[in-house]
Amino acid sequence: MSVAAEPRSLHDLGFPAVEEALESDGVSRFHAKALWRAVHRASLADLADAPFLPPLRKWLDLNVGEGKPYFLDVPELADEIPSADGLTRKFLLRLRDGQTIETVLMGYDNRHTVCVSTQAGCAMGCVFCATGQMGFARHLRPGEIIAQVHHARRALAASHPGRRLRNLVMMGMGEPLHNSDAVLASLDTISDVRGIGIGPSKIAISTVGVVPGILRLAETNSPYRLAVSLHGSTEEERSALVPASKRWSLAELIAACRRYGELTGKRIFFEWTLIEGKNDNPDTARRLAALLHGIDAHVNLIPLNPTAGYEGSSSRAGDEFQRVLLAAGIPCTFRQRRGIDVAAGCGMLKASRLQRSR
Ligand code: SAH
Ligand code: SF4
Repeated sequence: MSVAAEPRSLHDLGFPAVEEALESDGVSRFHAKALWRAVHRASLADLADAPFLPPLRKWLDLNVGEGKPYFLDVPELADEIPSADGLTRKFLLRLRDGQTIETVLMGYDNRHTVCVSTQAGCAMGCVFCATGQMGFARHLRPGEIIAQVHHARRALAASHPGRRLRNLVMMGMGEPLHNSDAVLASLDTISDVRGIGIGPSKIAISTVGVVPGILRLAETNSPYRLAVSLHGSTEEERSALVPASKRWSLAELIAACRRYGELTGKRIFFEWTLIEGKNDNPDTARRLAALLHGIDAHVNLIPLNPTAGYEGSSSRAGDEFQRVLLAAGIPCTFRQRRGIDVAAGCGMLKASRLQRSR
């Protein structure tokens, strides 16, 4: 007895896999481009009314939909909060199995950026992070990562017709390098010029410091930007905030960053969430400057969005921290503060939703 194969997401398929899927059903691979354009360039959430040539139309009618071999990843909007300045929108999206994830669309100075999640929850357990406090549910598939970009593109087209979404950051829920295969597969599709076409240099992968993942990016000369969340200048200071630091020590992490710089010649962005009394004193800033010596580095200072038990640094402490780094020759800026009411730390919309439903 043959067992019916599990339905697959059309969004999970890369371009060659779309060609193969058509060809294995006797449809010319010539039709792959039209299908790819509809799904990935036009960001269509429903292919029922799209105009296709008859062979492709027939294949879609037979193969795509509930109970058929393929489905489309189109998450349901479970909640949305706009920011007071109207430039940022945060979406809570519900996946097919009921898991919810956050996606943020940001627009400043006519530049639009989407912040996507790579996992439902996160296993890394950073103590100040709402996602970390929630724990890990599961990895996202490539299609579920790509679907967030399509959701943001449709929202942008509705609110600002003609504007393009040109930047992507993997700074939503989850640790991208704990789900590297799906993340890299999703980025192949997201950067494909036949579809979404976000340039690799406009894509940033943010990691808590998964050393094997950083080395993989270095050794494959990955075209994306790398951001490393540091938050601590000694093993003790960092491990107290970032438990993953016990697995990959600060020393190992910095060595991997040096290796990345040597192999790729690229700058690394170091993220530093300023937490009152934990990592915001001038001595820490001096140690950080010494740690980064010789690395092509840029430090992004992030004001903490308060979570259970943690408060953000005063702006005086933040300014002094920045002054020390700049004086040591380390480029250092504050993460965009506007729209922060909604852009809030990752996981905070989901956390507040869970609280309300209890
Ligand atoms: N897991 C990856 C990417 C997602 S978190 C990482 O840790 O880099 C993206 C960024 O948001 C990280 O730099 C993280 O430290 C920061 N962040 C998490 N919770 C925050 C909070 N409550 N306030 C400010 N930044 C926060
Ligand atoms: Fe995970 Fe990043 Fe949050 Fe740490 S800061 S728990 S790695 S999402």
